[in-house]
Amino acid sequence: MKKVVKFGGSSLANAEQMKKVADIILSDETRVYVVPSAPGKRFPGDTKVTDMLLEAYAMAAEGKDTAEQLAAIKARYDEIILGLGMDFSLDEDFKEIAAVLKEEPQRDYMASRGEYLNGKVLAAYLNVPFVDAAEVIFFNSEGALNTYKTEKTMAQRLEKLPRAVIPGFYGCGKDGKIKTFSRGGSDVTGSLVAQASRADIYENWTDVSGFLMADPRIVDNPAGIKYITYRELRELSYMGASVLHEDAIFPVRHRGIPINIRNTNRPQDEGTWIVESTCQKPEYVLTGIAGKKGFCTMLITKAMMNAEVGFGRKVLQALEDNHISFEHTPSGIDTMTVVVHEDEFMDKEQAVVSGIHRLAEPDAIEIESGLALIAVVGRGMRSASGTAGKLFSALADANINIRMIDQGSSELNIIIGVEDKDFECAIRAIYNTFVNSDTA
Ligand code: ADP
Ligand code: ASP
Ligand code: MG
Repeated sequence: MKKVVKFGGSSLANAEQMKKVADIILSDETRVYVVPSAPGKRFPGDTKVTDMLLEAYAMAAEGKDTAEQLAAIKARYDEIILGLGMDFSLDEDFKEIAAVLKEEPQRDYMASRGEYLNGKVLAAYLNVPFVDAAEVIFFNSEGALNTYKTEKTMAQRLEKLPRAVIPGFYGCGKDGKIKTFSRGGSDVTGSLVAQASRADIYENWTDVSGFLMADPRIVDNPAGIKYITYRELRELSYMGASVLHEDAIFPVRHRGIPINIRNTNRPQDEGTWIVESTCQKPEYVLTGIAGKKGFCTMLITKAMMNAEVGFGRKVLQALEDNHISFEHTPSGIDTMTVVVHEDEFMDKEQAVVSGIHRLAEPDAIEIESGLALIAVVGRGMRSASGTAGKLFSALADANINIRMIDQGSSELNIIIGVEDKDFECAIRAIYNTFVNSDTA
């Protein structure tokens, strides 16, 4: 049995948390590869070390002096080192960081130092070898992960190391410079380490006892999810349930390695198991609810649209020409709606509209903003009757106007569009109907 354990920022925010992490690792000898994040928030309102580093980079890029900011970052680590009673210093590392910032500030290099330094501290504390992620994780020239080279190099390296600490969040770009994943990307590193080391379990330790049925900031004390499939999770994390980075699923999924989300502050809790497939019956028809605000719709009308071969392609061509991805395209007989991200669309709006007019010659295009999308996800929906009816009554009872409905072809999810202002209320109404008053 071999486990990869990834710890999130709040699990490593100070010495006290670091001790909990060490206890978790040392209490199970199968926890052999450790992937740390940078120190996160110690209390509400605190700043994550990654954000402090990004701020230092922004200051350097503007030619401002960063000495004070770097001292504040160093103080975060010194607090940890001192609190752990270690004889260890990051002085040399900080000299190097200051030099790079002065000579040629690089955003990704700076952002990655949070994990890099934390990895060094944790490795020294555990007395386990440190492996720089830049030596085992690679990106290609388009900036995407080079999966083949990463798996091969990392597997070869770890084969020789029975235990190791590999910092999360970054790797090496095609140009030899440090490149990070998007925010929250240490989850992806953990998954890559699990894949390359052929681990049996990828444990992802955070500050909640697993995946909850809804965002705890919206629903009070939501129920926990014991088992969730990769596909269900993908739907939920894509729609904003941000416990796990959405790309963290792919590396382990191929290998059938389950992910276990656990709580560093409550290690006795079993947490959530994310698995390929399961015969575990979900407790409720729904596995979870998640959503995001900030979408726009383009309602495109053209008489006899359905009979016109290639109409949809032409519309989507206009989006592609402007490098915009679309989320959903519900359609009617004479209408087609395209749902896009407001922030991606805003600046290119008129270029897209004229492109559609030129390519598809519609009768009219109407744009509306302020749409929130809510994904209601559950493998149990396939076999339960009346789910949609119940969902719509829940929203009607709460006086919420539904602006769009899209049932995923997998029967795994139903996507509903509501006004941004109704977002939280809609999630609570759905949750209460399916969980608090559900006997199914
Ligand atoms: P880490 O720093 O350990 O990577 P994250 O902050 O990335 O942790 O993810 C954990 C947080 O995700 C929780 O503290 C919680 O606020 C938030 N969250 C959002 N949606 C959910 C959900 N459905 N279930 C559990 N937590 C959720
Ligand atoms: N430290 C990085 C961030 O704050 C990566 C991570 O925590 O996973 O986004
Ligand atoms: Mg995270």
